[in-house]
Amino acid sequence: MVQYDTILIRYGELSTKGKNKKDFIRRLSKNISHVLEDKPNLEYINTYDRIYIRLHGEDPYSCIERIQKVFGISSFSITQKVPNTIEAMEETCLAIAKENEKGTFKVVAHRSDKTFEMKSDQINRAIATVILKNTEHKVDVHNPDFKIHVEVRQEYTYITSKIIPGAGGYPVGINGKAMLLLSGGIDSPVAAYYVMKRGVEVEAIHFSSPPYTSTSAQEKVLELARLVSQYQGKMKVHVVPFTDLQLAIYKNCNESYAITIMRRMMVRIAERVAKRNRCLALATGESLGQVASQTLESMGVINEVIKLPILRPVVTFDKLDIIEVSKKIGTYETSILPFEDCCTIFTPKNPVTKPLSHRAEEYESKFDFETLINECIENTKCIVVKPIKEKENYL
Ligand code: ATP
Ligand code: MG
Repeated sequence: MVQYDTILIRYGELSTKGKNKKDFIRRLSKNISHVLEDKPNLEYINTYDRIYIRLHGEDPYSCIERIQKVFGISSFSITQKVPNTIEAMEETCLAIAKENEKGTFKVVAHRSDKTFEMKSDQINRAIATVILKNTEHKVDVHNPDFKIHVEVRQEYTYITSKIIPGAGGYPVGINGKAMLLLSGGIDSPVAAYYVMKRGVEVEAIHFSSPPYTSTSAQEKVLELARLVSQYQGKMKVHVVPFTDLQLAIYKNCNESYAITIMRRMMVRIAERVAKRNRCLALATGESLGQVASQTLESMGVINEVIKLPILRPVVTFDKLDIIEVSKKIGTYETSILPFEDCCTIFTPKNPVTKPLSHRAEEYESKFDFETLINECIENTKCIVVKPIKEKENYL
């Protein structure tokens, strides 16, 4: 039987060097340990081009799905480490071969320790000979049913039969933090995923309008936050009570400008909450042309009230492409649950598609929005969600 004892994490070609590389590895190792925090026996060994996780009896298969969601990993394998002798390699490779049904195979040896006395080719041949002698498997170097990878390194040799693709990207946290405007829709969770993939930690801000929006609608948003938090570890969600400000907008502004002004208020509040929490940018799930407030003209009029950059990862995506990603990352089924959002309740009949700055400013000058913004911020609640659901309801 094969005794898998190590998970080997590869981070592929890094463009970053020196101190950045050290930060990268340290952060990646920490992020992996967060998603596996319920497995206390794991031991992490960081080296310049690999992370080794010694299992010490933990079940490797229960780690796979979680590791696949950690950004910064190019690929990983469940391996058995053996001493650097050809006999030990042959024995373990034979055991792996015997775990497979009768079929074709290929041995792929890689020697990063060049002091080992045999060349890769010789290792391949020696191991294949043992397998051919002791099983009914045949060699096929072009299209094998299974491969056995033998990685000879200075300390040990790592043997595995499967290379599992990682999520790519950068480890979350090495590129700062952003405040994501999270609605209950399909787009913003997908945006969160892409921002995280660039190594940016995400905090979320959600605007809710009780009693026009229900507790279930808020629960839905928190569940979406939990689902995307699987890609970065725990996540803060700032819930802003938006009702009074929203009602004031509808009272004082021309209906066609209500959405534009509501968005300007949202980003003003988000920017302040972002700065308090040391976020360097905002992020949204806006997509060009999707609705009236997502034209270039609208984005311009919305952008001009704040200084922080706004990241819009899905701005050029077709809706169908966004849906495809949301299914892949596991948020789609929750996003389509039919709960109202603050925007859907107050939707005007004819929202302006080409708003003008001076008109927006004119409407805003009709009421004291600063006081209302301050009240929103004072009453904002922060909820921390974790990847593994701890209780049925968040509120
Ligand atoms: P949908 O899939 O319904 O388009 P959406 O999340 O894109 O969902 P939009 O109305 O298109 O919703 O809003 C555009 C963006 O504005 C969202 O992606 C989100 O970033 C932000 N947003 C909208 N409503 C809220 C809200 N209630 N709280 C926080 N952010 C919001
Ligand atoms: Mg949208």
